[in-house]
Amino acid sequence: MKKTIRDIALNGRKVFLRCDFNVPLDDDRNITDDRRIQSAVPTIQYLMKEGACTIIASHLGRPKGNPDPQYSLAPVAVRLSELLGQEVQFVSEPEVTGPAAKKAAEELSPGAVLLLENVRFRPEETKNEASFSEELASLAEIFVNDAFGTAHRAHCSTAGVADYLPAVSGFLMEKEISFFENLLQSPAHPFTAVLGGSKVSDKIPLIENLLDKVDTILVGGGMAYTFLKARGCEIGTSLLDEESLGLASEIMEKAETAGVSFLIPKDSLCAPEFKNDSPSETFSSESMPEDMMGLDIGPETAEQYRQVIMDSATVVWNGPMGVFEMDSFAGGTRAVAQAMNDTQAVTVIGGGDSAAAVRKFDLEEGISHISTGGGASLEYLEGKVLPGVACLQDK
Ligand code: AMP
Repeated sequence: MKKTIRDIALNGRKVFLRCDFNVPLDDDRNITDDRRIQSAVPTIQYLMKEGACTIIASHLGRPKGNPDPQYSLAPVAVRLSELLGQEVQFVSEPEVTGPAAKKAAEELSPGAVLLLENVRFRPEETKNEASFSEELASLAEIFVNDAFGTAHRAHCSTAGVADYLPAVSGFLMEKEISFFENLLQSPAHPFTAVLGGSKVSDKIPLIENLLDKVDTILVGGGMAYTFLKARGCEIGTSLLDEESLGLASEIMEKAETAGVSFLIPKDSLCAPEFKNDSPSETFSSESMPEDMMGLDIGPETAEQYRQVIMDSATVVWNGPMGVFEMDSFAGGTRAVAQAMNDTQAVTVIGGGDSAAAVRKFDLEEGISHISTGGGASLEYLEGKVLPGVACLQDK
């Protein structure tokens, strides 16, 4: 168990809080989705209530180590002030921790909040260079990490500062860790993993790590066709990762040995072209035409996967079942999202496309946990050590 902000004295102390405020902006630099800012609010409010002097850092976009005004956190400061109902002081300095930031941090009063400029304006940040970690740490007495979305990166503001300051988690980080630890250490059975998306090779480490933990793996999306091909099905012009064919066979053998039920689609919704308005038809996996591609799981598969999800006690989902961005091929992903919403199981969605899908279908309500970190949750489930988590003190 990692220490959290509940475990330490905060009153009057300077806290360096790393958030993930990497929000999408439109051409006029308006925030188009403020969910990431909202999800940090409980931690910030707690720090304010406890009388901490909160100095927040985040990255935004990829400014490539240069101060690029396009990636300034200025719009975030405005939105955060609105959400907190209190002005957030914002220091926009190209060097992030320049004289103005130092002065503002020094003079910060208990309960007040200061936002620094985009940490990726400094080239040292993503290289985790000690000099910048030390500069950031010199502003505060405690490091609170609430940026789960970047916890898989060993950067100065996500991990390096912990070399100089005692490090604990914020509430969002605590919640993420608790759901993923539960999945990996003590899931209620039957435990099902639903895996989709386009690339088989991206999901191999994940499948390997889950094989001794889950009871069932449901495979959909473009990656399913490499497994179907490995089982000897003809897949027409569907996505195929030729190089992973051998690994796909190996994985299915390992699943059998481990007693894991490894399901691949019985049928697919196919079309001649990768287009929403391409005429589509359902085919069984044994009879896919050679000039068509599978762009979604078919209705029989969707029903089978729904049943498995309904009968599970724990379900984790990573990757869409089809090209859900196109309405004509969103049905399978919608069916899985609906089942995730309807089941009594503990349900966890590993961020990224699957999270976007449940939001698109407005089915977030019944999901136990939608992770805020696509890449971080994938690495967690692969069994990797996340630097932004590992650096936190144990209880
Ligand atoms: P990934 O980035 O590997 O998680 O893959 C996500 C992408 O896979 C989404 O953009 C989907 O549109 C795409 N996808 C899902 N199913 C298929 C499919 N059957 N054929 C091609 N692309 C797919």
